[in-house]
Amino acid sequence: MDFSAIRFFILDMDGTFYLGEQLLPGAQEFIKNISEQGKDFCFLTNNSSHNSTFYTQKLRRMGFQDFPSHKIITSSQATIFYLSQMNPHPRVYLLGTRELEIEFLQANFILVQKDPDFVVLGFDTSLTYQKINQACQFIRKGVPFFATHPDLNCPTEEGPVIDAGSFIKAIEASTGQFPKVFGKPYPEMIEYILQRTKTKKEEVAIIGDRLYTDIAMGKKAGITTILVLTGETKEEDIKNSPWQPDFVFTSLEEINNYLK
Ligand SMILES: [Mg+2]
Repeated sequence: MDFSAIRFFILDMDGTFYLGEQLLPGAQEFIKNISEQGKDFCFLTNNSSHNSTFYTQKLRRMGFQDFPSHKIITSSQATIFYLSQMNPHPRVYLLGTRELEIEFLQANFILVQKDPDFVVLGFDTSLTYQKINQACQFIRKGVPFFATHPDLNCPTEEGPVIDAGSFIKAIEASTGQFPKVFGKPYPEMIEYILQRTKTKKEEVAIIGDRLYTDIAMGKKAGITTILVLTGETKEEDIKNSPWQPDFVFTSLEEINNYLK
């Protein structure tokens, strides 16, 4: 196994780097190894209910002091990047948390209750009937509809909770419209990272624990894909998946053997 051509690693977080509040084997050493080799990395998450500060604080609890927030890429950043290319100061009707509203405002988006240019759906833990119904009214009138990510549920320590993908289904049932979606398994977040880091596809690998999100996204974007078995996927699941990873490792610890 030769990773000498890979200059940039995109890492999934839960199930790959940590599980809940616990670092997974080899996680700390992986960061040290790639830094020593002059390679770089970022973390990737679909969850648009929190901004990158939430994750730097989580990483601090696990022993990473002053983790740079620009190394955490959320689906909301990719959404902002693409929408601002279409319109630098769009009027947006947003279904999202206060944290997501602040991210949009910092990007010079205008959050409006009427006449929006775009309707954007995030992981909105403050969603009400009034909000989702208003979104449907705009979409029905032809306002372009976007969503940060398609996850039906979000895993929490108390079990799964309803996430943006389920709200997409509700809006689709009401309006017949399906949004353009930016998070995994769609490739836009990787394209955003390639542009931001000025790296080429051949130089980039994604490491993740899910075939139908992390590996699917990497395949669609045309980068190297690495599955780790520390999260959701069992070895026997691989053969039945339409998404075949380029490499499979038991954990980041095993990858470390090839990074020295
Ligand atoms: Mg994961």
